[in-house]
Amino acid sequence: MGRLQHTEGLTDDQQELLKLVRRFVDEQILPVATELEHADEYPTEIVEAMKEMGIFGLMIPEEYGGLGESLLTYALTVEEISRGWMSVSGIINTHFIVAYMLLQHGTEEQKQKYLPRMATGEVRGAFSMSEPGCGSDVSGIKSKAVQGEDGQWTLTGQKMWLTNGGSSNLVAVLVKTDTGADSVYRNMSSFLIE
Ligand SMILES: Cc1cc2nc3c(=O)[nH]c(=O)nc-3n(C[C@H](O)[C@H](O)[C@H](O)COP(=O)(O)OP(=O)(O)OC[C@H]3O[C@@H](n4cnc5c(N)ncnc54)[C@H](O)[C@@H]3O)c2cc1C
Repeated sequence: MGRLQHTEGLTDDQQELLKLVRRFVDEQILPVATELEHADEYPTEIVEAMKEMGIFGLMIPEEYGGLGESLLTYALTVEEISRGWMSVSGIINTHFIVAYMLLQHGTEEQKQKYLPRMATGEVRGAFSMSEPGCGSDVSGIKSKAVQGEDGQWTLTGQKMWLTNGGSSNLVAVLVKTDTGADSVYRNMSSFLIE
């Protein structure tokens, strides 16, 4: 039994799930991780297997087609996957950031539109915040969105470093929307770009 499965208070279901993930890491990630990393190759087969296992929908509620697991289960799963290959955890984590953002702040229409397909991994998320001139201090973001008279928003700017940038099909992009706001931290919005 792996160390993580000994985390205090885990239910039988959580222990079973972690056992499954541990076996997956041993059998399908560890044997190929070094080779793929050195070849700078995207782990397509691993991603497909994670879709099958429902990992992309681990924390998405059951009503939206996910497994409805807790944040603890999610964290332990990611820790276990990172044991095999850190880069694979990034593929899930940025997807999770977008799904979580949608759950917390999205409209019901957005949730219905994206979450069931995010749970299966058909829609895969990325979060785009960093820019050539700004990293951790997002108040420095220069990209902006301006709404035209026809109601359409136009986004301009330059983004970089987004994990899953080349493989995701739903990108949450953080940009400035209100240059008149009273704080540099209160004038930004995330746009969902397909
Ligand atoms: C593996 C990986 C994956 C990434 N994935 C994504 C992604 O999916 N999407 C995305 O948008 N970006 C992503 N990034 C970029 C990441 O968000 C930035 O690297 C991070 O925000 C740090 O920015 P920076 O490298 O420019 O460092 P800086 O922001 O320049 O920080 C350097 C140091 O200065 C400190 N610092 C910076 N500003 C301040 C301040 N105002 N006050 C006090 N201290 C400060 C920091 O704490 C740090 O110690 C990724 C980076 C890595 C390494």
